[in-house]
Amino acid sequence: MNYTVNEHGYYGNFGGAFIPEMLFPNVQTLQENYLKIIYAEQFQKDFWDLLRDYVGRPTPLFLAERLSAKYGATIYLKREDLCHTGAHKINNTIGQILLAERLGKKRIIAETGAGQHGVATATVCALKGLECIVYMGEVDIARQAPNVARMKMLGATVVPATSGSKTLKDATNEAIRDWINNPVDTHYIIGSVVGPHPYPDMVARFQSVISEEIKKQLLEKTGNANPGYVVACVGGGSNAAGAFYHFLDDAEVKLIAVEAAGCGIDSGMSAATTQLGKPGILHGSKSLLMQTADGQVVEPHSISAGLDYPGIGPLHAHLYESGRGTFISATDEEALSSAFELSKLEGIIPALESAHALFALNKMTFKKDDVVVVCLSGRGDKDLDTYMKHL
Ligand SMILES: *Cc1c(COP(=O)(O)O)cnc(C)c1O
Repeated sequence: MNYTVNEHGYYGNFGGAFIPEMLFPNVQTLQENYLKIIYAEQFQKDFWDLLRDYVGRPTPLFLAERLSAKYGATIYLKREDLCHTGAHKINNTIGQILLAERLGKKRIIAETGAGQHGVATATVCALKGLECIVYMGEVDIARQAPNVARMKMLGATVVPATSGSKTLKDATNEAIRDWINNPVDTHYIIGSVVGPHPYPDMVARFQSVISEEIKKQLLEKTGNANPGYVVACVGGGSNAAGAFYHFLDDAEVKLIAVEAAGCGIDSGMSAATTQLGKPGILHGSKSLLMQTADGQVVEPHSISAGLDYPGIGPLHAHLYESGRGTFISATDEEALSSAFELSKLEGIIPALESAHALFALNKMTFKKDDVVVVCLSGRGDKDLDTYMKHL
């Protein structure tokens, strides 16, 4: 089995580049040049320097002893919550802003759900002195107010998306519309492993620093670079892609992806794409997608804005279809319970998204010497309003 993208941008049956003609030159330029650009010596130096001195990498791999005792396994947390701006998203925006510079782009657009990708994009735009416009669903603007304030303070313009469910999918539609209207001077920094080829592969490569570090750190701590399990939540799938990346060909490492079940898989208010989705095309690639019988996108629901998306990246659709990945889900209530549990057991308040990954521990059965790495994709400051309502 092969888990890397082929030259047409496909992972198995999923991927590709389904784009309006107006965007063809932009996407083609990216397809033809992204690997050359990002693996140039100076690019790599600039990327790693910024990850170290600006983002704060490597992030720690923390042995969560009280959590381990509770679940009967050795559980490590990969602390992406300690990245500058509070989540893994900045790994990707650092890479893409360096790419935009090399492409000579002056204007940056982005979509955001929880606001973490918007903040990470506004941050690197400030760092590089580039104009930044962030599209965000009106519902998300209301439930992630602290991140909206951060983006504004960083100098970005936040534009509300008012169509559909007024969440991440709709913000992405608006960003694509902007790019169609401004194809020459604008680079679109997509925030997850979604979108037309080469975005899913490019974003996965920028995020793969997560698993690169996990391997080194685990080897140092346990004498074995490979854990039994790597667990991550999946919205579009970028923190999971980064956490899985260097384990994809290590069959003994089980890859556990956790989707948001919202109010329950069968409630009609869910975002569990692999459970509810069928193959379809959204935002430029073929993947699994929650849709009606006649192909209209079903509005998703999750308490966590970062997972409130009706699709998943094509890599994850392939991991699901091929059986390489195990896909499970956590409801809103279950994620909340895990967020409170981690806070009390380890003194770490996780993002609501990451809390979905943590809940997977309840659905797994461990042997005593199992080693589990959970990707703690972000911190919970942005979710305090939601947490307070459930205290
Ligand atoms: C955006 C976000 C996610 C979901 O996005 P992926 O691309 O699936 O990683 C998960 N956790 C946090 C903290 C986020 O900000």
